[in-house]
Amino acid sequence: MIAEVIVDVLSSTVDKVFDYNIPHSLTVVVGDRVLVPFGPRKIDGFVINIKQTSSYDKSKLKDIISKKDPQPLLSENMVRLCFFMKQKFYLRLADTIRLFLPPMVRNGKVKQKLVQYVTLNCDDVSQIKKGAKKQLEALLYLQEKAREKHSVLSQKFGASAIKSLIEKNLVRLEGVKENRAPQNKFSVAKKEITLNNQQQQAVDVITKSKYQTFLLHGVTGSGKTEVYINCIKDCLKSGKTAIMLVPEISLTPQMFARFKNAFGDTVAILHSSLSQGERFDEWNRLKSGEAKIAIGARSCIFAPLENIGLIVVDEEHDSSYYSESNPRFHTHEVARYLAYLNNCPLILGTATPSIESYYLAKKGEYRLIQLTNRANQKELPNIELVDMLSEIHSGNTGIFSYRFLNELEKCINDKKQAMIFINRRGFSSFLMCKECGYVPKCEDCDVSLVYHKEDDMLKCHYCNRRYKTLNTCPKCGSKSIRFGAVGTQRIVDELKKLFNVPIFRLDNDSTQNKNSYIEILESFNHTSPAILVGTQMIAKGHDFNNVTLVGIVDADMSLHFSDYKAVEKTYQLITQVSGRAGRSESEGKVVLQTYCPKHFVYRCASNYDYTAFYKKEINLREVAHFPPFVSILRILVFGEDEQKTLNNLEQIYTQIKDLKQTYSSDFVYLSAMKCPKRRLQRNYRYQILMRLYKKNEPEIVSKIYEICDKLKTRNVSVFIENDPQNLS
Ligand code: ADP
Ligand code: ZN
Ligand code: ZN
Repeated sequence: MIAEVIVDVLSSTVDKVFDYNIPHSLTVVVGDRVLVPFGPRKIDGFVINIKQTSSYDKSKLKDIISKKDPQPLLSENMVRLCFFMKQKFYLRLADTIRLFLPPMVRNGKVKQKLVQYVTLNCDDVSQIKKGAKKQLEALLYLQEKAREKHSVLSQKFGASAIKSLIEKNLVRLEGVKENRAPQNKFSVAKKEITLNNQQQQAVDVITKSKYQTFLLHGVTGSGKTEVYINCIKDCLKSGKTAIMLVPEISLTPQMFARFKNAFGDTVAILHSSLSQGERFDEWNRLKSGEAKIAIGARSCIFAPLENIGLIVVDEEHDSSYYSESNPRFHTHEVARYLAYLNNCPLILGTATPSIESYYLAKKGEYRLIQLTNRANQKELPNIELVDMLSEIHSGNTGIFSYRFLNELEKCINDKKQAMIFINRRGFSSFLMCKECGYVPKCEDCDVSLVYHKEDDMLKCHYCNRRYKTLNTCPKCGSKSIRFGAVGTQRIVDELKKLFNVPIFRLDNDSTQNKNSYIEILESFNHTSPAILVGTQMIAKGHDFNNVTLVGIVDADMSLHFSDYKAVEKTYQLITQVSGRAGRSESEGKVVLQTYCPKHFVYRCASNYDYTAFYKKEINLREVAHFPPFVSILRILVFGEDEQKTLNNLEQIYTQIKDLKQTYSSDFVYLSAMKCPKRRLQRNYRYQILMRLYKKNEPEIVSKIYEICDKLKTRNVSVFIENDPQNLS
């Protein structure tokens, strides 16, 4: 028999499948990791197919040397998923295989932790010399306990006494496997919860379903997590496993504790803040079947589970579900294919569906389930809009509006907590007039222009049109046109001048190490009155009982981000952030400061009217030719040698232009340009951007893959992204 083997090497030119002969002495199946001769070396490879014959000369085929593991590392479904990802996202198979095998599993550097135990062999006391008191005591101790940790015994009776007992063969030393299960310092009280009607109906529909994608649209606090938990319970009952994905940021200790309460040791957590050893053990608990539920961020979709009965993608609108470095993929697509392979339901849950998902639900491709009320029967917090322009006109040029300062004072006097949210998306990259709120936009694309320092120009990231930078506002003539962003630190400084209460800060700078994030949240949780100032990191998932006020000081920041999703992201942020207020007894309030209070996104968000927002936004997308009506494709071409990179870019671009001739009515737009981040990690970066109508898209995309494959060279990397989340 012949095995097709993909060799696990980093070189970007090798993504070929090689045929190897399976010697009679070996039984090899798909998914096995094997050792094979490769040129003068011996390297690891993965068996991705087994066949009778090879199209190569059989006498020249080399033999597989050995199998690396007793069980295959990859299942057949995993291998199928690799092929799917290769084809869907233009990835190398070797890179997709790696996704299933965490580095510490692959490189074998981390091992199962063994703890040395001492076990009693025989209690023949006569073998112990008179006077060897410690040995005798240790033996008597073991008579009672039969087994004890070597470290404990050594401490009690001295290492030499134990050594003598071992030498006399009265006791023996054994290594016992021990799991480095991640410890959670948080605990939440177990609550007995009876699902309400809407929740119960959701659970009934989902648990009865086979392969089908559900969009679970439920307002914040509507009890979506309870729905997931109940569906997963049903899975376990029928002997199946489940995967639950959450954005890294909302994988909070509280969430963890809730799942531990519900499922105990059947749940394994894969989280980037775990130590290597912990990850290794959690992964192995899943692989061995000891744990049946995997919870984690994006990459947890590759957890080593078989017989999957449910996949959940919580906060489905979150951009972290797009991988932005190699291998680039979109988690929803992977999850859908995995659900298809397992013939099981997939839940996409959120309070603010992505426009794309809602569109698919409207078209009937997804099934929409709605939870319309908060589980605690509380009203959603009132969102008050404050017009910052009129603040300026009435003489307040500070960061905070009078309204907000008023509310903050009240909140502090009531000994409650406040959260102040700062939008860091698009930090200081766009210009804004401080007098009238004007923001320069592309005349062709209606997205905000991005300032490029290098050549002192404003550029549109979607069509590359360039504009001169502005010193005066074209609308009102004011000279105070500048970058619009304030940092967390400045806000904290301002607050310190105004209020004498503990102020906590949570952003990327303040959370360099993995535990400080949890520590900051913990201390905030236990302090009242207090203020927490933070970026996106505080927007999701946290359940602070005493927060009654939420301030959004610069809501427009994401609105002007140079991205066609800017409005959608703004809606999502407002809703998520507002959801933090008034989660328990006291009522919550949100103050939202903006320079354009009339914008529909604020009107809809402050009314919690997702449907109205969707209607408006989907129309704009259609008119402006943006997803979901077209696909945006980016070909990223980069290399250390600028000339070679440029040559490659030109070749690809020329051929795609020819393609455009053939499919002229399918192209909305095509161009080649420097990336906004021209140089990154020593690479020169260029991109080809195009927008394609959906009709013939798959056909065109596969032709583009062919072109890129054909023109691929050793020195230049080419990546293709469909609907990139970030055009930097
Ligand atoms: P979501 O995931 O939609 O934000 P959660 O599942 O976290 O909502 O629920 C919000 C709060 O309401 C939690 O404290 C949860 O324990 C509680 N809760 C959920 N469902 C119910 C219910 N049916 N009855 C009482 N409390 C509930
Ligand atoms: Zn102006
Ligand atoms: Zn443009």
